[in-house]
Amino acid sequence: MSNISGASSGSSNTRRGRVEGVPTVCLCGAQIVGKISKSDPNPYRRYFRCAYVVSNKLMDDNHVFKWVDEALLNEVERLISEAKRLEQMVRENEIVFDG
Ligand SMILES: [Zn+2]
Repeated sequence: MSNISGASSGSSNTRRGRVEGVPTVCLCGAQIVGKISKSDPNPYRRYFRCAYVVSNKLMDDNHVFKWVDEALLNEVERLISEAKRLEQMVRENEIVFDG
């Protein structure tokens, strides 16, 4: 029923700033670490942050920052749409299982 649109053809375009799903490495190549917010608007809220920024105590918005709850929600939505896409491909016999 629902038509999956806007599926990228796997091109390797670099997306700046916003990261979909759970980030694994920062744009700068550093690892991502999990931190807990101490800010007033978001006390004890967990977030992902670039390890380089954390260890150097920078305030640089060009590095990965993402709330864990939003990241997980993104990841679940991505997996759901991926599952639907695969299901549709199987239904249309685009995937052939030959052992
Ligand atoms: Zn970084």
